Amino acid sequence: MKNLQEKWRSMDCRQMLNVVNGTFYGGLGLLLVAWIVSQCSQSTVPGGFAVLLCVLGMAGVFGGILLAYLRLRCPHCGASLMLGGRIPTSLPNFCPKCGKPL
Ligand SMILES: [Zn+2]
Repeated sequence: MKNLQEKWRSMDCRQMLNVVNGTFYGGLGLLLVAWIVSQCSQSTVPGGFAVLLCVLGMAGVFGGILLAYLRLRCPHCGASLMLGGRIPTSLPNFCPKCGKPL
């Protein structure tokens, strides 16, 4: 557990972006699956299963956004690297605020 924490702290912002995108799009994927399940199999699959998938998907989407907001920051000045509240698909080479290389 200690190693995991150290790895977590030592991640640079590009690795963090991968984690954020994985969480966010994983959540979106689960939401899609939840929607398909609720559309296709109204009688065979219990409704609770679609609700569970939906809840997990929402947790992923909001968790990804929260993680991006908290951790996707310039290592030099701490400026947020979010694009106006959205998760960026790639990071700029230089911090938009302090101009140092990321
Ligand atoms: Zn900066």
